[in-house]
Amino acid sequence: MSRSAIRDSIVRAAREINALGINQGTAGNISVRDRDAMLITPSGIPYATMTSEMIALVSLVESDLAFEGPLEPSTEWRFHRDILRARKDVNAVVHTHPLYATTLSVLQRDIPAAHYMIAAFGDNRIRCTDYAPYGTAELSQLAVAGLGRAHGVLLGNHGAIVTGSNLDQALWRAVELEALAKIYYLASLAGTPVVLPDDEIARTIERFKNYGVKPPRG
Ligand code: 13P
Ligand code: ZN
Repeated sequence: MSRSAIRDSIVRAAREINALGINQGTAGNISVRDRDAMLITPSGIPYATMTSEMIALVSLVESDLAFEGPLEPSTEWRFHRDILRARKDVNAVVHTHPLYATTLSVLQRDIPAAHYMIAAFGDNRIRCTDYAPYGTAELSQLAVAGLGRAHGVLLGNHGAIVTGSNLDQALWRAVELEALAKIYYLASLAGTPVVLPDDEIARTIERFKNYGVKPPRG
């Protein structure tokens, strides 16, 4: 994909997360890998007024912030960069503040395998990190560790991060993560959710290799 096509896809995705009701206001941010750099949403700009030219290009190799663009990149450039550095299988990172996932993050509670769709995240739970202030290196370390080899993590008292081999796959997971959080939250109010066994989730993870939004062939 060309750099300008990636920029357009990020603006579309940013509008979509708010339209889908899984994010609001200027919360959240989105990045996509572009060789040894990432394209990332600018900080604090309402998505309705965001344009492709505003998407910042940030180096993945420099240790300090090195960017090109008319506006400062997202304050969360560190965890986007550190996830893309740590995970060669990940090419897109979507951070949101969805209602139910953020409610669980305020409780600092993991989402267990109460629903089989947890398998779409490649693990038997979605972990919740401790709290760290937004935009810090400490939050980035917690996010990378909490994500591990999975594709979703809750940030304590903050929100959620999902990843994908492309932006469509990350957006699919952003929607599914909020559905899992809502189901788990509601089931916890009504009773005690039944958690599926690890071997069942492992089998479902295998089956998911042929389901859902998949990486491009090639
Ligand atoms: P930015 O507007 O700087 O991307 O910050 C939003 C956010 O969600 C911080 O965690
Ligand atoms: Zn945030």
